[in-house]
Amino acid sequence: MNASPAAVPARADLHTHTALCKHASGLPHEYLAAAQSAGLAYLGVSDHFPAPAGYDAEFRMAPSDLPRYFEILRSLREEAAGGPVQILAAAEFDYVPGRMDEVFDALAPVRSEFDYLLGSVHYVGDFAFDDPGKLDEWPRFGVDAVWDVYLNDLDAFVGLGGFNVLAHSDLPKKFGFRPTDYESAVRRISEIYRKAAAKGICLELNTAGLRVPADEIYPALPLLRAAFEAGMQITLGSDAHKPEHVAYAFDRAAALARSVGWTTHTAFVKGEPVALPL
Ligand code: ZN
Ligand code: FE
Ligand code: FE
Ligand code: ZN
Repeated sequence: MNASPAAVPARADLHTHTALCKHASGLPHEYLAAAQSAGLAYLGVSDHFPAPAGYDAEFRMAPSDLPRYFEILRSLREEAAGGPVQILAAAEFDYVPGRMDEVFDALAPVRSEFDYLLGSVHYVGDFAFDDPGKLDEWPRFGVDAVWDVYLNDLDAFVGLGGFNVLAHSDLPKKFGFRPTDYESAVRRISEIYRKAAAKGICLELNTAGLRVPADEIYPALPLLRAAFEAGMQITLGSDAHKPEHVAYAFDRAAALARSVGWTTHTAFVKGEPVALPL
């Protein structure tokens, strides 16, 4: 149909990791090279922020890694300067039930270093439900109980706020486990989205869902519709844990977002939203 080459939309990947979290591979400059090949305008580096002592230490950077993280971001920015890709400094931080004072205390002194923050729930109690190594622990809780606690925590997290992007908001579907009463889960999440929209929190379309058994972007289509109705803006995130994942399936995510009704997606530069075409 297009006689002339279509302009590649200048997109932003706001969810990528570094090896500091101990479960990602590749060098920062390889992620930058991948972003350049994908024609991205922004590459957001959003590694797993240190959590309170004793919480998920093996899957995130330690507090003592933070200076190294900022050094990585600084040198990546230097390397990218003058090129087509702008580096954004970010972090993905977790809702830790009962310990959010500690989380926000740790974030406060470095907050101004970040262009934006992603908020995530990866645990239900002591259960890392998204860990493929813990699949045999699902029966200990049961699928509905995992979803129930997850949604309570997601709701509480959005209630607290303090982040710009709600990441992979139906993550418990990762291995294909969906709540028995899906309709009521959708209603509950819609309520959370309305709360998020009122706070200016963006919804992430996370393409990592296409690389796992769920085989579906996070969040699912009925939830995307609910988020659109709630008035949320969106971000795109590959959740890259290796360079090849940068901008993973972004054409598909953009097409899905357009089919729901969005015409733009968002990047954050020093906390300020920047609208980009889809
Ligand atoms: Zn990760
Ligand atoms: Fe995550
Ligand atoms: Fe992530
Ligand atoms: Zn993630």
